[in-house]
Amino acid sequence: MTLIDATAVPLGGPSLVQERRLVTAIPGPRSQELLARKADAVPAGVGHTVPIQAVAAGGGIVVDADGNSLIDLGSGIAVTTVGNAHPKVVAAVQAQAAQFTHTCFMISPYESYVAVAEALNRLTPGDHVKKTALFNSGAEAVENAVKIARKYTGKPAVVAFDHGYHGRTNLTMALTAKAMPYKSGFGPFAGEIYRAPLSYPFRDGLSGPDAARRAITMMEKQVGADNLAAIVIEPIQGEGGFIVPAEGFLEALVEWCRANNVVFIADEVQTGFARTGEMFASDGFGIVPDLVTTAKGIAAGLPLAAVTGRAEIMDASHAGGLGGTYGGNPIACAAALAAIDVFENDGMLERAREVGEILTGRLRELQASDPRIGDVRGKGAMVAAEFIDAETGEPDAALAASVAKASIAQGVIVLTCGTYGNVIRFLPPLSIGDDLLNDGLDVVAAALADN
Ligand code: PMP
Repeated sequence: MTLIDATAVPLGGPSLVQERRLVTAIPGPRSQELLARKADAVPAGVGHTVPIQAVAAGGGIVVDADGNSLIDLGSGIAVTTVGNAHPKVVAAVQAQAAQFTHTCFMISPYESYVAVAEALNRLTPGDHVKKTALFNSGAEAVENAVKIARKYTGKPAVVAFDHGYHGRTNLTMALTAKAMPYKSGFGPFAGEIYRAPLSYPFRDGLSGPDAARRAITMMEKQVGADNLAAIVIEPIQGEGGFIVPAEGFLEALVEWCRANNVVFIADEVQTGFARTGEMFASDGFGIVPDLVTTAKGIAAGLPLAAVTGRAEIMDASHAGGLGGTYGGNPIACAAALAAIDVFENDGMLERAREVGEILTGRLRELQASDPRIGDVRGKGAMVAAEFIDAETGEPDAALAASVAKASIAQGVIVLTCGTYGNVIRFLPPLSIGDDLLNDGLDVVAAALADN
Protein backbone atom coordinates (compact mmCIF):
# COMPACT_ATOMS: atom_id res chain seq x y z
CA MET A 1 0.00 0.00 0.00
CA THR A 2 1.43 3.38 -1.02
CA LEU A 3 0.21 6.44 0.77
CA ILE A 4 0.62 9.73 -1.03
CA ASP A 5 3.33 12.02 0.27
CA ALA A 6 1.34 14.49 2.38
CA THR A 7 3.99 17.20 2.03
CA ALA A 8 3.44 17.26 -1.74
CA VAL A 9 -0.31 17.77 -1.48
CA PRO A 10 -1.45 21.38 -1.84
CA LEU A 11 -4.12 22.76 0.47
CA GLY A 12 -7.51 23.10 -1.15
CA GLY A 13 -9.66 26.21 -1.35
CA PRO A 14 -9.39 29.33 -3.47
CA SER A 15 -5.61 29.64 -3.01
CA LEU A 16 -5.03 26.66 -5.33
CA VAL A 17 -3.43 27.69 -8.62
CA GLN A 18 -6.37 28.23 -10.95
CA GLU A 19 -5.18 26.62 -14.15
CA ARG A 20 -5.69 23.35 -16.01
CA ARG A 21 -2.42 21.46 -15.97
CA LEU A 22 -1.77 17.89 -17.03
CA VAL A 23 1.57 16.36 -16.03
CA THR A 24 0.57 12.74 -16.75
CA ALA A 25 -2.07 10.99 -18.80
CA ILE A 26 -5.37 10.58 -16.91
CA PRO A 27 -5.21 8.41 -14.86
CA GLY A 28 -1.60 8.88 -13.80
CA PRO A 29 0.30 6.16 -11.90
CA ARG A 30 -0.79 7.15 -8.38
CA SER A 31 -4.41 7.42 -9.45
CA GLN A 32 -4.16 4.03 -11.16
CA GLU A 33 -2.83 2.55 -7.94
CA LEU A 34 -5.82 3.84 -5.97
CA LEU A 35 -8.30 2.69 -8.61
CA ALA A 36 -6.79 -0.80 -8.47
CA ARG A 37 -7.26 -0.82 -4.68
CA LYS A 38 -10.80 0.49 -5.17
CA ALA A 39 -11.58 -2.36 -7.57
CA ASP A 40 -10.47 -4.86 -4.91
CA ALA A 41 -12.06 -3.17 -1.90
CA VAL A 42 -15.19 -1.40 -3.12
CA PRO A 43 -18.08 -3.10 -4.96
CA ALA A 44 -18.44 -2.53 -8.69
CA GLY A 45 -21.88 -1.00 -8.08
CA VAL A 46 -20.19 2.11 -6.72
CA GLY A 47 -18.90 3.57 -9.97
CA HIS A 48 -16.83 6.64 -10.72
CA THR A 49 -16.82 9.10 -13.61
CA VAL A 50 -13.34 10.63 -13.41
CA PRO A 51 -10.47 8.12 -13.02
CA ILE A 52 -8.31 10.07 -10.58
CA GLN A 53 -7.32 10.12 -6.96
CA ALA A 54 -8.51 13.53 -5.78
CA VAL A 55 -6.30 15.18 -3.16
CA ALA A 56 -7.32 18.84 -3.12
CA ALA A 57 -9.94 21.12 -4.65
CA GLY A 58 -10.94 24.76 -4.65
CA GLY A 59 -11.98 27.63 -6.88
CA GLY A 60 -12.68 25.79 -10.12
CA ILE A 61 -9.94 23.15 -9.82
CA VAL A 62 -9.61 19.55 -8.62
CA VAL A 63 -6.01 18.34 -8.08
CA ASP A 64 -5.11 14.65 -8.28
CA ALA A 65 -2.38 12.63 -6.62
CA ASP A 66 -0.22 12.78 -9.75
CA GLY A 67 -0.19 16.58 -9.70
CA ASN A 68 -2.75 17.07 -12.47
CA SER A 69 -5.11 20.04 -12.12
CA LEU A 70 -8.52 19.44 -13.65
CA ILE A 71 -11.24 22.03 -14.31
CA ASP A 72 -14.35 21.24 -12.29
CA LEU A 73 -17.58 21.69 -14.26
CA GLY A 74 -19.55 19.31 -12.04
CA SER A 75 -19.20 20.47 -8.39
CA GLY A 76 -19.38 16.85 -7.20
CA ILE A 77 -22.93 16.79 -8.64
CA ALA A 78 -24.10 20.28 -7.66
CA VAL A 79 -22.70 20.22 -4.13
CA THR A 80 -19.72 22.57 -3.89
CA THR A 81 -21.65 25.53 -5.26
CA VAL A 82 -19.85 28.05 -3.01
CA GLY A 83 -16.52 26.43 -3.92
CA ASN A 84 -14.65 23.46 -2.51
CA ALA A 85 -12.96 24.02 0.87
CA HIS A 86 -14.43 27.53 1.05
CA PRO A 87 -12.54 29.37 3.83
CA LYS A 88 -15.72 30.31 5.73
CA VAL A 89 -16.92 26.70 5.62
CA VAL A 90 -13.52 25.32 6.63
CA ALA A 91 -13.33 27.71 9.61
CA ALA A 92 -16.87 26.84 10.74
CA VAL A 93 -16.23 23.10 10.47
CA GLN A 94 -12.93 23.32 12.36
CA ALA A 95 -14.46 25.41 15.14
CA GLN A 96 -17.47 23.12 15.56
CA ALA A 97 -15.37 19.93 15.43
CA ALA A 98 -13.28 21.29 18.31
CA GLN A 99 -16.45 22.14 20.27
CA PHE A 100 -18.45 18.90 19.95
CA THR A 101 -19.00 16.49 17.07
CA HIS A 102 -22.33 14.92 18.04
CA THR A 103 -24.91 14.75 20.76
CA CYS A 104 -27.86 13.59 18.59
CA PHE A 105 -30.36 16.42 18.18
CA MET A 106 -33.13 14.09 19.36
CA ILE A 107 -31.25 13.56 22.64
CA SER A 108 -29.57 16.89 23.43
CA PRO A 109 -30.58 19.71 21.04
CA TYR A 110 -28.12 22.42 20.00
CA GLU A 111 -28.43 25.85 18.46
CA SER A 112 -26.97 25.36 14.97
CA TYR A 113 -29.74 22.91 13.95
CA VAL A 114 -32.39 25.43 14.95
CA ALA A 115 -30.51 28.23 13.16
CA VAL A 116 -30.38 26.18 9.93
CA ALA A 117 -34.13 25.49 10.27
CA GLU A 118 -34.80 29.21 10.78
CA ALA A 119 -32.68 30.10 7.75
CA LEU A 120 -34.49 27.58 5.53
CA ASN A 121 -37.89 28.71 6.80
CA ARG A 122 -36.92 32.25 5.82
CA LEU A 123 -35.22 31.49 2.47
CA THR A 124 -37.54 28.91 0.86
CA PRO A 125 -40.36 30.22 -1.35
CA GLY A 126 -43.46 31.75 0.25
CA ASP A 127 -43.98 33.90 3.35
CA HIS A 128 -46.30 31.47 5.17
CA VAL A 129 -45.29 29.98 8.53
CA LYS A 130 -42.83 27.12 7.92
CA LYS A 131 -40.92 24.44 9.81
CA THR A 132 -37.85 22.40 8.86
CA ALA A 133 -36.57 18.94 9.77
CA LEU A 134 -32.97 17.97 8.96
CA PHE A 135 -31.65 14.71 7.53
CA ASN A 136 -28.46 13.34 5.95
CA SER A 137 -29.06 12.88 2.23
CA GLY A 138 -31.35 13.99 -0.54
CA ALA A 139 -33.03 10.59 -0.70
CA GLU A 140 -33.71 10.67 3.03
CA ALA A 141 -35.26 14.12 2.72
CA VAL A 142 -37.55 12.96 -0.10
CA GLU A 143 -38.58 9.85 1.89
CA ASN A 144 -39.48 12.04 4.84
CA ALA A 145 -41.40 14.55 2.72
CA VAL A 146 -43.54 11.65 1.48
CA LYS A 147 -44.03 10.35 5.04
CA ILE A 148 -45.12 13.80 6.19
CA ALA A 149 -47.51 14.32 3.27
CA ARG A 150 -49.15 10.93 3.83
CA LYS A 151 -49.58 11.57 7.53
CA TYR A 152 -51.03 15.05 6.88
CA THR A 153 -53.50 14.03 4.18
CA GLY A 154 -54.27 10.51 5.42
CA LYS A 155 -53.96 9.38 1.78
CA PRO A 156 -51.56 6.74 0.39
CA ALA A 157 -50.69 7.51 -3.25
CA VAL A 158 -47.77 9.56 -4.55
CA VAL A 159 -47.19 10.74 -8.12
CA ALA A 160 -43.71 11.22 -9.53
CA PHE A 161 -42.87 12.26 -13.08
CA ASP A 162 -41.19 10.93 -16.18
CA HIS A 163 -37.44 11.62 -16.12
CA GLY A 164 -37.57 12.21 -12.36
CA TYR A 165 -34.68 11.29 -10.05
CA HIS A 166 -35.16 11.21 -6.30
CA GLY A 167 -32.54 8.80 -4.93
CA ARG A 168 -31.45 5.20 -4.47
CA THR A 169 -33.31 4.05 -1.35
CA ASN A 170 -36.31 1.76 -1.80
CA LEU A 171 -38.99 4.45 -1.80
CA THR A 172 -36.92 6.89 -3.84
CA MET A 173 -36.00 4.20 -6.38
CA ALA A 174 -39.74 3.78 -6.86
CA LEU A 175 -40.04 7.54 -7.41
CA THR A 176 -37.07 7.61 -9.80
CA ALA A 177 -37.94 7.03 -13.45
CA LYS A 178 -34.86 5.51 -15.04
CA ALA A 179 -34.31 1.74 -14.77
CA MET A 180 -30.62 1.56 -15.64
CA PRO A 181 -28.55 2.07 -13.62
CA TYR A 182 -30.79 3.15 -10.75
CA LYS A 183 -33.44 0.44 -10.40
CA SER A 184 -32.75 -2.65 -12.50
CA GLY A 185 -32.69 -5.78 -10.36
CA PHE A 186 -33.25 -3.90 -7.09
CA GLY A 187 -37.02 -4.36 -6.77
CA PRO A 188 -39.67 -4.96 -5.65
CA PHE A 189 -40.25 -1.29 -5.03
CA ALA A 190 -42.46 0.59 -2.59
CA GLY A 191 -46.15 0.58 -3.49
CA GLU A 192 -48.66 3.33 -4.27
CA ILE A 193 -46.24 5.23 -6.51
CA TYR A 194 -47.56 6.39 -9.89
CA ARG A 195 -45.85 8.16 -12.76
CA ALA A 196 -47.21 11.11 -14.70
CA PRO A 197 -45.95 12.64 -17.95
CA LEU A 198 -43.65 15.66 -17.69
CA SER A 199 -43.35 18.80 -19.77
CA TYR A 200 -40.29 18.30 -22.01
CA PRO A 201 -40.54 21.12 -24.56
CA PHE A 202 -37.70 19.89 -26.82
CA ARG A 203 -39.31 16.46 -27.21
CA ASP A 204 -43.06 16.91 -26.72
CA GLY A 205 -43.58 20.38 -28.20
CA LEU A 206 -46.49 20.96 -25.79
CA SER A 207 -47.27 24.26 -24.10
CA GLY A 208 -47.02 24.28 -20.30
CA PRO A 209 -50.80 24.31 -19.76
CA ASP A 210 -51.30 21.48 -22.30
CA ALA A 211 -48.60 19.35 -20.68
CA ALA A 212 -50.14 20.06 -17.26
CA ARG A 213 -53.58 19.04 -18.52
CA ARG A 214 -52.09 15.74 -19.75
CA ALA A 215 -50.54 15.07 -16.32
CA ILE A 216 -53.66 16.13 -14.42
CA THR A 217 -55.89 13.87 -16.55
CA MET A 218 -53.58 10.96 -15.73
CA MET A 219 -53.71 11.79 -12.01
CA GLU A 220 -57.49 12.18 -11.98
CA LYS A 221 -58.25 9.09 -14.05
CA GLN A 222 -55.54 6.65 -12.99
CA VAL A 223 -54.92 7.60 -9.35
CA GLY A 224 -57.82 9.78 -8.19
CA ALA A 225 -57.31 12.93 -6.14
CA ASP A 226 -59.05 11.27 -3.19
CA ASN A 227 -56.24 8.74 -3.00
CA LEU A 228 -53.36 11.08 -3.73
CA ALA A 229 -51.23 12.43 -0.86
CA ALA A 230 -48.57 14.25 -2.85
CA ILE A 231 -46.83 14.89 -6.11
CA VAL A 232 -43.03 14.98 -6.06
CA ILE A 233 -41.34 16.92 -8.82
CA GLU A 234 -38.00 18.54 -9.53
CA PRO A 235 -38.71 22.08 -10.83
CA ILE A 236 -35.92 21.34 -13.33
CA GLN A 237 -35.12 17.63 -13.80
CA GLY A 238 -31.51 17.04 -12.82
CA GLU A 239 -30.38 13.49 -13.56
CA GLY A 240 -33.24 13.24 -16.08
CA GLY A 241 -31.54 15.72 -18.41
CA PHE A 242 -31.78 19.29 -17.05
CA ILE A 243 -35.29 19.49 -18.49
CA VAL A 244 -36.84 22.94 -18.01
CA PRO A 245 -40.63 22.58 -18.17
CA ALA A 246 -42.63 24.88 -20.43
CA GLU A 247 -44.01 28.04 -18.86
CA GLY A 248 -47.24 27.43 -16.99
CA PHE A 249 -46.69 23.70 -16.37
CA LEU A 250 -45.59 23.88 -12.73
CA GLU A 251 -48.02 26.70 -11.95
CA ALA A 252 -50.98 24.62 -13.17
CA LEU A 253 -49.86 21.60 -11.14
CA VAL A 254 -49.55 23.70 -7.97
CA GLU A 255 -53.02 25.11 -8.54
CA TRP A 256 -54.51 21.65 -9.07
CA CYS A 257 -52.79 20.29 -5.96
CA ARG A 258 -54.12 23.14 -3.85
CA ALA A 259 -57.67 22.59 -5.10
CA ASN A 260 -57.49 18.84 -4.37
CA ASN A 261 -55.76 18.61 -0.98
CA VAL A 262 -52.64 17.16 -2.60
CA VAL A 263 -49.27 18.20 -1.14
CA PHE A 264 -46.95 19.71 -3.77
CA ILE A 265 -43.39 18.62 -2.97
CA ALA A 266 -40.65 20.42 -4.90
CA ASP A 267 -37.48 18.31 -4.89
CA GLU A 268 -34.86 21.07 -4.96
CA VAL A 269 -31.99 18.79 -3.94
CA GLN A 270 -30.11 19.59 -7.17
CA THR A 271 -31.71 22.94 -8.14
CA GLY A 272 -31.55 24.61 -4.73
CA PHE A 273 -29.12 27.13 -3.26
CA ALA A 274 -28.32 29.59 -6.04
CA ARG A 275 -27.71 26.93 -8.68
CA THR A 276 -30.34 28.35 -11.05
CA GLY A 277 -29.57 32.02 -10.35
CA GLU A 278 -32.36 32.13 -7.77
CA MET A 279 -32.06 30.81 -4.23
CA PHE A 280 -34.51 28.07 -5.31
CA ALA A 281 -35.66 27.12 -8.80
CA SER A 282 -39.28 27.40 -7.64
CA ASP A 283 -38.68 31.15 -7.21
CA GLY A 284 -37.81 31.44 -10.89
CA PHE A 285 -41.13 29.82 -11.84
CA GLY A 286 -43.06 31.93 -9.33
CA ILE A 287 -44.43 28.86 -7.56
CA VAL A 288 -44.79 28.26 -3.83
CA PRO A 289 -44.47 24.54 -3.02
CA ASP A 290 -46.07 23.10 0.13
CA LEU A 291 -42.87 21.20 0.96
CA VAL A 292 -39.33 21.67 -0.37
CA THR A 293 -36.57 19.08 -0.11
CA THR A 294 -32.98 20.31 -0.12
CA ALA A 295 -29.49 18.79 0.21
CA LYS A 296 -26.28 19.01 -1.90
CA GLY A 297 -25.41 22.75 -2.05
CA ILE A 298 -26.83 23.40 1.42
CA ALA A 299 -23.64 22.55 3.31
CA ALA A 300 -20.83 22.78 0.72
CA GLY A 301 -20.05 19.07 0.87
CA LEU A 302 -20.95 18.08 4.41
CA PRO A 303 -23.84 15.59 4.47
CA LEU A 304 -27.00 17.52 5.28
CA ALA A 305 -30.54 17.56 3.87
CA ALA A 306 -33.82 19.13 4.83
CA VAL A 307 -37.57 19.11 4.43
CA THR A 308 -39.06 22.58 4.78
CA GLY A 309 -42.72 23.42 4.47
CA ARG A 310 -46.03 24.68 5.72
CA ALA A 311 -46.07 24.43 9.52
CA GLU A 312 -49.45 22.69 9.60
CA ILE A 313 -48.18 19.96 7.26
CA MET A 314 -44.78 19.60 8.93
CA ASP A 315 -46.47 19.34 12.34
CA ALA A 316 -48.74 16.46 11.25
CA SER A 317 -46.33 13.82 12.55
CA HIS A 318 -46.55 12.59 16.14
CA ALA A 319 -43.48 13.15 18.35
CA GLY A 320 -40.69 10.70 17.55
CA GLY A 321 -42.02 9.99 14.05
CA LEU A 322 -39.32 12.03 12.32
CA GLY A 323 -35.56 12.15 12.81
CA GLY A 324 -32.52 9.89 12.87
CA THR A 325 -29.27 9.52 14.76
CA TYR A 326 -27.24 11.88 12.61
CA GLY A 327 -29.84 14.17 11.01
CA GLY A 328 -28.66 17.77 11.42
CA ASN A 329 -25.20 16.79 12.66
CA PRO A 330 -23.58 19.83 14.30
CA ILE A 331 -20.56 19.93 11.96
CA ALA A 332 -22.86 19.73 8.92
CA CYS A 333 -25.05 22.48 10.41
CA ALA A 334 -22.00 24.69 11.03
CA ALA A 335 -20.99 24.18 7.39
CA ALA A 336 -24.54 25.00 6.25
CA LEU A 337 -24.67 28.23 8.25
CA ALA A 338 -21.34 29.29 6.71
CA ALA A 339 -22.49 28.32 3.20
CA ILE A 340 -25.81 30.15 3.66
CA ASP A 341 -23.85 33.23 4.72
CA VAL A 342 -21.91 32.98 1.44
CA PHE A 343 -25.10 32.42 -0.62
CA GLU A 344 -26.77 35.44 0.92
CA ASN A 345 -23.89 37.89 1.22
CA ASP A 346 -21.22 37.07 -1.35
CA GLY A 347 -23.10 37.64 -4.61
CA MET A 348 -23.80 33.98 -5.40
CA LEU A 349 -27.10 34.57 -7.23
CA GLU A 350 -25.49 37.14 -9.51
CA ARG A 351 -22.50 34.88 -10.08
CA ALA A 352 -24.77 31.96 -11.01
CA ARG A 353 -26.44 34.15 -13.64
CA GLU A 354 -23.07 35.30 -15.01
CA VAL A 355 -21.77 31.74 -15.20
CA GLY A 356 -25.04 30.77 -16.88
CA GLU A 357 -24.65 33.48 -19.51
CA ILE A 358 -21.16 32.25 -20.39
CA LEU A 359 -22.28 28.61 -20.51
CA THR A 360 -25.43 29.27 -22.53
CA GLY A 361 -23.71 31.74 -24.88
CA ARG A 362 -20.83 29.40 -25.66
CA LEU A 363 -23.05 26.32 -26.09
CA ARG A 364 -25.53 28.18 -28.34
CA GLU A 365 -22.59 29.31 -30.46
CA LEU A 366 -21.51 25.67 -30.81
CA GLN A 367 -25.08 24.61 -31.56
CA ALA A 368 -25.32 27.16 -34.39
CA SER A 369 -22.60 25.35 -36.30
CA ASP A 370 -23.23 21.78 -35.17
CA PRO A 371 -26.68 20.22 -35.67
CA ARG A 372 -25.72 17.33 -33.36
CA ILE A 373 -26.50 19.70 -30.46
CA GLY A 374 -30.28 19.47 -30.53
CA ASP A 375 -30.99 21.64 -27.53
CA VAL A 376 -29.19 23.95 -25.11
CA ARG A 377 -31.22 24.64 -21.98
CA GLY A 378 -31.06 25.43 -18.31
CA LYS A 379 -31.21 28.26 -15.84
CA GLY A 380 -28.34 30.05 -14.13
CA ALA A 381 -25.33 27.80 -13.60
CA MET A 382 -27.35 24.67 -14.42
CA VAL A 383 -27.02 24.30 -18.19
CA ALA A 384 -26.99 21.31 -20.51
CA ALA A 385 -26.55 20.34 -24.15
CA GLU A 386 -28.66 17.50 -25.56
CA PHE A 387 -26.93 15.51 -28.31
CA ILE A 388 -28.89 14.02 -31.18
CA ASP A 389 -28.41 12.30 -34.49
CA ALA A 390 -28.53 15.29 -36.84
CA GLU A 391 -30.51 13.33 -39.45
CA THR A 392 -33.15 11.64 -37.31
CA GLY A 393 -33.27 13.77 -34.14
CA GLU A 394 -32.88 10.55 -32.13
CA PRO A 395 -30.88 10.80 -28.87
CA ASP A 396 -27.14 10.17 -29.37
CA ALA A 397 -25.85 8.79 -26.08
CA ALA A 398 -22.63 7.52 -27.66
CA LEU A 399 -21.68 11.03 -28.76
CA ALA A 400 -22.38 12.50 -25.31
CA ALA A 401 -20.32 9.76 -23.66
CA SER A 402 -17.47 10.17 -26.10
CA VAL A 403 -17.32 13.98 -25.74
CA ALA A 404 -17.40 13.64 -21.94
CA LYS A 405 -14.66 11.01 -21.95
CA ALA A 406 -12.42 13.06 -24.26
CA SER A 407 -12.97 16.18 -22.13
CA ILE A 408 -12.01 14.34 -18.96
CA ALA A 409 -8.88 12.99 -20.64
CA GLN A 410 -7.93 16.62 -21.37
CA GLY A 411 -8.47 17.63 -17.74
CA VAL A 412 -12.07 18.89 -17.73
CA ILE A 413 -14.59 17.24 -15.43
CA VAL A 414 -17.99 17.07 -17.14
CA LEU A 415 -20.96 14.88 -16.27
CA THR A 416 -23.53 13.27 -18.52
CA CYS A 417 -27.20 12.79 -17.64
CA GLY A 418 -30.60 12.25 -19.21
CA THR A 419 -33.06 9.40 -19.52
CA TYR A 420 -31.46 8.66 -22.90
CA GLY A 421 -27.91 9.35 -21.60
CA ASN A 422 -27.44 11.91 -24.38
CA VAL A 423 -27.02 15.07 -22.30
CA ILE A 424 -23.86 16.75 -21.00
CA ARG A 425 -24.60 18.95 -18.02
CA PHE A 426 -22.58 21.88 -16.79
CA LEU A 427 -22.85 22.84 -13.14
CA PRO A 428 -19.54 24.37 -12.11
CA PRO A 429 -18.78 25.72 -8.67
CA LEU A 430 -19.63 29.43 -8.60
CA SER A 431 -16.07 30.08 -7.40
CA ILE A 432 -14.76 29.25 -10.88
CA GLY A 433 -13.16 32.14 -12.79
CA ASP A 434 -14.30 33.15 -16.28
CA ASP A 435 -10.95 32.16 -17.85
CA LEU A 436 -11.07 28.68 -16.39
CA LEU A 437 -14.70 28.23 -17.41
CA ASN A 438 -13.91 29.32 -20.96
CA ASP A 439 -10.87 27.03 -21.11
CA GLY A 440 -13.10 24.14 -20.01
CA LEU A 441 -15.64 24.96 -22.70
CA ASP A 442 -12.85 25.22 -25.32
CA VAL A 443 -11.85 21.67 -24.41
CA VAL A 444 -15.45 20.42 -24.71
CA ALA A 445 -15.81 22.17 -28.08
CA ALA A 446 -12.59 20.58 -29.34
CA ALA A 447 -13.76 17.17 -28.10
CA LEU A 448 -17.01 17.60 -30.01
CA ALA A 449 -15.17 18.67 -33.17
CA ASP A 450 -12.98 15.54 -32.95
CA ASN A 451 -15.97 13.21 -32.60
N1 PMP B 1 -33.28 14.38 -5.58
C1 PMP B 1 -32.61 14.97 -6.57
C2 PMP B 1 -33.32 15.96 -7.44
C3 PMP B 1 -31.26 14.67 -6.81
O1 PMP B 1 -30.60 15.26 -7.82
C4 PMP B 1 -30.61 13.74 -5.96
C5 PMP B 1 -29.15 13.37 -6.15
N2 PMP B 1 -28.65 13.43 -7.42
C6 PMP B 1 -31.35 13.15 -4.94
C7 PMP B 1 -32.68 13.49 -4.76
C8 PMP B 1 -30.74 12.16 -4.00
O2 PMP B 1 -29.82 12.79 -3.19
P1 PMP B 1 -28.72 11.94 -2.38
O3 PMP B 1 -27.81 11.38 -3.40
O4 PMP B 1 -28.08 12.95 -1.47
O5 PMP B 1 -29.47 10.90 -1.64
